[in-house]
Amino acid sequence: MIHDPVAEAPESAAESLSTGPRADDGAPISSAPNARVQPDAQLPQPVYPEHPRISIVIPLYNEEESIPALYDGLVAAIANYGQPAEVLIVDDGSKDRSFELLRALALKDPRFTILRLRRNSGQTAAFSCGFDHARGDVVITMDADLQNDPMDIPLLMAKIDEGYDIVSGWRLNRQDRYLDRKLPSMMANRLISNVTDVRLHDYGCSLKAYRRDVLQHVHLYGELHRFIPALASQVGGTVTEVPVNHRARQFGSSKYGISRTVRVMLDLITVWFLGSYQTRPIHVFGLLGMLSAAMGTLIGLYLTFIKIFLGVPIGGRPMLLLAVLLVVIGVQLITMGLLGEMVTRTYYESQNKPIYILRESVTLGAPA
Ligand code: UDP
Ligand code: MG
Repeated sequence: MIHDPVAEAPESAAESLSTGPRADDGAPISSAPNARVQPDAQLPQPVYPEHPRISIVIPLYNEEESIPALYDGLVAAIANYGQPAEVLIVDDGSKDRSFELLRALALKDPRFTILRLRRNSGQTAAFSCGFDHARGDVVITMDADLQNDPMDIPLLMAKIDEGYDIVSGWRLNRQDRYLDRKLPSMMANRLISNVTDVRLHDYGCSLKAYRRDVLQHVHLYGELHRFIPALASQVGGTVTEVPVNHRARQFGSSKYGISRTVRVMLDLITVWFLGSYQTRPIHVFGLLGMLSAAMGTLIGLYLTFIKIFLGVPIGGRPMLLLAVLLVVIGVQLITMGLLGEMVTRTYYESQNKPIYILRESVTLGAPA
């Protein structure tokens, strides 16, 4: 696969740092007015990776207690992995001292970049920001709460080197409560696997690796970060999984409750619909509409028949209501499908987006 991450590298990583603290952020104002300050010359300077092999992207929200151990763990894991790496920590609008601590890390270690969001926008948005700024060939995602073990990175990378585009961690010994965390997640994983046909044991594990050239075709909204393997597979990526280590949360508390189960189900409908019908919404709405209208018409014909030929009164029959309802719903569904077709055209044509993704082209003639 031909691709040049350096050429694509956004320049905004440094800019994002330079937003600096503002009085109206409500965030603690630290002494350095501008984060572009040069790192302390006394400290030993790690070599800045010109072209990182991996970019570790970590969303972080109110995890001040975890930060020192997170840093030590990452530094050790990068040394253990032995190839150039960068770390992008996305501070998702933390309200505690997280940003101050992170900023200090970024100013002493050039491999670390802190991207601070203006407000708490959720894990998906934080991932998305990290992906936009990543420069490595491979993006590794993980949590900031020390539940994932960065020492597992070589395991993921071994699968990437085998040729897979996406490697998902599988928390075989997951250290969370059973009833409200592991059980719903087990059921969700089965359902998501069946619906999307990308069979993984652990969609919820944050420790995953993605080839960046596949990731750049994945567009994230809402809380879709959990579905990235399925979305990436929809754009032609190959997916596999490896068992990884998992540890209990040491500090702070989980940012999610049981209510996320319902949202996951709704997101699954979105992923299924967009995966199969994004460019042909009439096929799903139209089919349902035609079925509904056809059933309504049949019932209507039956009622007309018994009224005209057998003289049976039909005015008070619930079936009459059903017939009308089915025809009306049918017409509405077909109309919705047509609207969907128009929306799809607007989406693709207004941005000159092709409806296909080209992997590569091979020719002896002039390139297209
Ligand atoms: N997180 C975030 N923004 C949010 C909620 C969570 O960036 O709005 C981060 C959080 O700091 C952690 C990761 O996302 O690094 C996963 O969150 P958490 O550990 O609470 O989820 P769980 O492991 O319980 O599923
Ligand atoms: Mg966690």
